[in-house]
Amino acid sequence: MADLPALRIGLSGGIGSGKSTVAALLAQHGAALVDTDAIARQLTLPGGAAIAPIRAAFGDDVIDAAGGLDRERMRALAFADVQARRRLEAILHPLIGIETDRQATQAPSSVKVFDVPLLVESGRWRRRVDRVLIVDCSEATQIERVAERAGWSRDAARAVVAQQATRETRRACADAVIHNDGITLDTLSAHVRDLWGHWCGLS
Ligand code: ADP
Repeated sequence: MADLPALRIGLSGGIGSGKSTVAALLAQHGAALVDTDAIARQLTLPGGAAIAPIRAAFGDDVIDAAGGLDRERMRALAFADVQARRRLEAILHPLIGIETDRQATQAPSSVKVFDVPLLVESGRWRRRVDRVLIVDCSEATQIERVAERAGWSRDAARAVVAQQATRETRRACADAVIHNDGITLDTLSAHVRDLWGHWCGLS
């Protein structure tokens, strides 16, 4: 197999766009995935590195019985109080950055895909990657897909979509956009294969 280029791809898309599906397809071609959402979750599990500073900043109220972050409470607090959200981000972002860098350094491929749900919103990611790949679909399709997940209603899906960056904002910072609407998973897979060939000089 020919050598892969050194390439850092930032992958993003709204909830339900098909971002995780595209990430998995890229991994099948040989990319190493770094999932920043999973990193954030691990940091806030019992024993995670973010727990002590979060407890110091917000008190025991946001820590659950098992010693992990009480997501419901933290979400309510961060939603209601922008200062609280900023303090939480000031704790989490550097820790996520350190773990992301560690995983990227150890990644078993020169093509690294950084799965970043809030890539467009956070603004800090653009200069950390060589290419930005956005998975895009209509809001109606997003809501339809998310509402099929266990524990999600249409209203909950709609509320998250409304909080996220608009499709236009996301597409404006993209080097490539995969339109994942009204196509089969096979066609999505073919789009990813074409992009892989284009960006990595192979297929
Ligand atoms: P995200 O990571 O953007 O939230 P996912 O990749 O988890 O979204 O996709 C949401 C759901 O939609 C999954 O069940 C996935 O299999 C399905 N899906 C995504 N793209 C397609 C498609 N083109 N055709 C059919 N189902 C799709």
